Amino acid sequence: MRLTRSTITETLERHGLEPSRALGQNFLCDPSMIDKIVRLGGVEAGDHVVEIGPGLGSLTIALADAGASVLAVEIDRYLVPPLRELVDGLDVEILNEDAMTLDWDAALTASDTWRVVANLPYNVATPLVLDLLAAQPRLTSWLVMVQREVGERLAAEPGSKIYGIPSVLTAYWGRARVVGAVPAQVFLPQPKVESVLVRIDRHETPRVEADFGRVSALVRAGFGQRRKMLRRSLSAYLSSEQIEAAGVAPTDRAEQLDVEAWGRLAVAHITESDGAA
Ligand code: SAM
Repeated sequence: MRLTRSTITETLERHGLEPSRALGQNFLCDPSMIDKIVRLGGVEAGDHVVEIGPGLGSLTIALADAGASVLAVEIDRYLVPPLRELVDGLDVEILNEDAMTLDWDAALTASDTWRVVANLPYNVATPLVLDLLAAQPRLTSWLVMVQREVGERLAAEPGSKIYGIPSVLTAYWGRARVVGAVPAQVFLPQPKVESVLVRIDRHETPRVEADFGRVSALVRAGFGQRRKMLRRSLSAYLSSEQIEAAGVAPTDRAEQLDVEAWGRLAVAHITESDGAA
């Protein structure tokens, strides 16, 4: 079964519900888009998949049909009864929790590797992706639907205007790519913004040896003053000589550096702190 415009409308009416804008409730109602998301997510029989924000189950049902065990984390308690009804008999566990505050360590004990497949609530998409990438190495492969600007920023390469803090911090953990566009017509209700599909594959071994916290601090300082040269924006952390010794031009700006260069700067900063101690 796939949820369509009429199943969704009928289910909402029967339960006396209206989509909540505050919770970013735009439900997928296009069976071919739903199947495309499951395919691009690489979901196979036996996989453990976590879905953040299952809503009425548009994706959840397709994920379970592909043979996955699905953990569905939904904040809205009013959606839980219709969701339970629609996924009845499928391998789906529903947690009525806020994904931002859930005890993820406890929730993910069933497997060492999980896929994330989700049509993410727009208001928490970036912090959710960045926090979970940093905290949960078990989440090895991601396919998320997000607002176009958010997705392009997560996957941006150095040198572009949209390359920023989320781009570097995502690249620290894995490889992000925009793998598809999603027209507004596949949702009920239709959002005013465009969406994209982003795939993130976590690196098996870190490509950057420096500690994430240190990289993050430098990246935030650099992009906090993105129009300034690094010798100015990073002056609280590194001298021009140290920046140069890390193989980076002190006259560069934050948006010119790839994650490896940020890593070298973070190592230079550690070495300096240790030397001073
Ligand atoms: N997956 C469904 C679909 O594609 O039709 C619904 C997607 S809708 C864009 C986002 C869903 O995330 C809604 O069901 C909303 O209630 C839920 N949500 C919003 N904030 C959340 C949070 N912090 N934790 C868990 N779920 C959340």
